[in-house]
Amino acid sequence: MTRMTVYCRGCGVRLQSEDPKKPGYVPAEKLTQEGIICQRCFKMTHYNQLSKVKVDEDYFVQVIKGIGQRKALIVKIVDLFDFDGSWLDELFRLIPHNPVLVVMNKIDLFPPVRWGKIEEWVKRRIREKNVHPVGLVFVSGQTGQGIPTLLEQIEKHRLGKDVYLVGCANAGKSTVINQILKFLAGDPERMITTSRFPGTTLDVIDIPVSAELVLHDTPGLINPKQITRYVSPEDLKQILPERKLRPKIYQLNPAQTLFFGGLARLDYLAGERLSFVCYMAERLPIHRTKLVNADAIYKKHLGGMLKPPGPQTLTKWEPLVKRSFRLNGEGDIALAGLGWVAVKGPGALVCVHAPPGVSVSMRPVLI
Ligand code: GDP
Repeated sequence: MTRMTVYCRGCGVRLQSEDPKKPGYVPAEKLTQEGIICQRCFKMTHYNQLSKVKVDEDYFVQVIKGIGQRKALIVKIVDLFDFDGSWLDELFRLIPHNPVLVVMNKIDLFPPVRWGKIEEWVKRRIREKNVHPVGLVFVSGQTGQGIPTLLEQIEKHRLGKDVYLVGCANAGKSTVINQILKFLAGDPERMITTSRFPGTTLDVIDIPVSAELVLHDTPGLINPKQITRYVSPEDLKQILPERKLRPKIYQLNPAQTLFFGGLARLDYLAGERLSFVCYMAERLPIHRTKLVNADAIYKKHLGGMLKPPGPQTLTKWEPLVKRSFRLNGEGDIALAGLGWVAVKGPGALVCVHAPPGVSVSMRPVLI
């Protein structure tokens, strides 16, 4: 039986009834109706509510290239808790001619006393990447802090252009948009609509902010570099921090290991007794053990004491991949999507085990 291809009347995406998280989802019984719209457009138009749609790299690149052909301001949402995992270097390469406004989200997770230092750190990291955003705004999608400034900055930099919001899955794009909607609530002029991305069938949703300004929301990228792509929604709750970060500090001797649930592991191989300061979600259990026992413990307790991964994630779990680091003074070992470990110990040797493809990197200390 051949299946007819049907497109959403709102955003133009191809409709499907297999995966609610992917673009164009409608329940199967609706697919045969005429003039239907996808669930994302439906929720937007009827409930003023943004439902998340996530896509893989190929689709994301297609969307971004499409935007690059337009006179558009890109508003790039970055997760400050996962700067390296959510930054998306590729974005600047794909759209070299568009102005980009960088929005660092989740500032509520950070201690206010260190704020000046954190802001400097972000600016320095951006300079090092040799990219030149038109502006930088710090916000919290959770508390709404910085949202009015964000809207002012968008107005300032768009200069008559269309505005597109882009970001990795879990960077907090939906939360930020919902805060914008909350901030604007009560404005009778504003009504959410959906629209076809000209010349394509990619789902982009229009959020009118004022008579002149419309924000176009794009699907979130499931970034293969982030550990979050490996985990189920249940596991995700354990690794995304909700409250202000409180570091867990471990004094380690060489030949000791830290397990981060069963998702990743850090072996301290050689050096003096050192402090390992872990900035991760409060709900992620960290276990310390002797290196000599670590392999056996992992084998025995993965999914049990070493959890997450929970049962849904375990079915597709792969062996962890090792990466070694020789510390050069003070630094953070950042595990994309999971957090980071701050260490100070020149010459110390560390080995990190993480799922294949997940980015593990050394960077200057953030806090
Ligand atoms: P999206 O995939 O980019 O649309 O991300 P979401 O908006 O769904 O956010 C992903 C996760 O991050 C959710 O658990 C949110 O509650 C959380 N989140 C989003 N924004 C913030 C924020 O500003 N602060 C904190 N602490 N959590 C946030």
